[in-house]
Amino acid sequence: VGVLMWLHLYKWNGQGTTEHFADIILGRCSNYTRIVQPALRNVDCQKIQEAFKDAFISKNPCNITEEDYRPLMKLTTQTIPCSKTILWSKTKEMAHQYTRVHRDMFTLEDTLLGYMADGLMWCGDSGTSEMNYRSCPHWKKDCPNNPVSVFWKMASHRFADAACGVVYVILNGSLSNTFDENSTFGSVEIINLHPEKVQALHAWVIHDVGGVPSDSCMTSSINKLKSITSQRKIAFRCQHYRPAPFIKDVTNPECSPCSSMI
Ligand code: NAD
Repeated sequence: VGVLMWLHLYKWNGQGTTEHFADIILGRCSNYTRIVQPALRNVDCQKIQEAFKDAFISKNPCNITEEDYRPLMKLTTQTIPCSKTILWSKTKEMAHQYTRVHRDMFTLEDTLLGYMADGLMWCGDSGTSEMNYRSCPHWKKDCPNNPVSVFWKMASHRFADAACGVVYVILNGSLSNTFDENSTFGSVEIINLHPEKVQALHAWVIHDVGGVPSDSCMTSSINKLKSITSQRKIAFRCQHYRPAPFIKDVTNPECSPCSSMI
């Protein structure tokens, strides 16, 4: 029985639940609602922690649905002002560095829901009320409908759905797939922006400092993004920057996000 139990816990190819997952959720929720966004001071973090656990505890971790997360989503609704939404793809650190300085701008991880879950892993299993700290399904090697993937897909969907005004996206100009259609940005966020309330999508393409100055807004990858936005009747603008974060590029003298950084 011992060996079987052991094999059972190690059955997945992904990292296991983060140690102290439930305490971290509660701690981050308290920190966010008391210190980061005191306007949310009335949310019940205990209730949020319970709803988060209930979404995946005692359930097959390959068979999680959006329905499972509905109660958690309901408890964490938050309004982001128009033109303050920042999406990102393959530029996580840079996007967060940017919002750390520009405190009025929000990535998903600057909202309560994203703030609580960022960087964590979690899963359970049917037939036990325990979390699996040994392994969790890997989204590519095991199954797509695992607790973590379903969570981020749903959170990203809702975040894009609610965006208004000008929406910004920070992309990685050092990769050939600067715009990746299979990423969450390319497959979930871009298609859930609403043309009635989203005036324009502004892409900030960040590229290597050392590289030859080239216009990373002129690539076929960015053209693909441009054509998707125009099909969706959303205006598109692209500007390229060097990192650190967003130093004015010599080939790009008009740098709106740079001005207040330096
Ligand atoms: P990306 O390709 O840089 O991926 C971001 C992270 O999510 C990576 O660690 C990646 O391995 C992981 N990821 C992507 N798809 C996944 C899936 N189906 N299951 C599990 N992990 C997955 O950028 P992206 O895919 O375009 O996602 C970034 C955008 O989507 C952001 O705008 C953000 O709002 C949201 N998002 C955030 C996270 C996060 O971990 N904070 C994860 C997914 C999506």
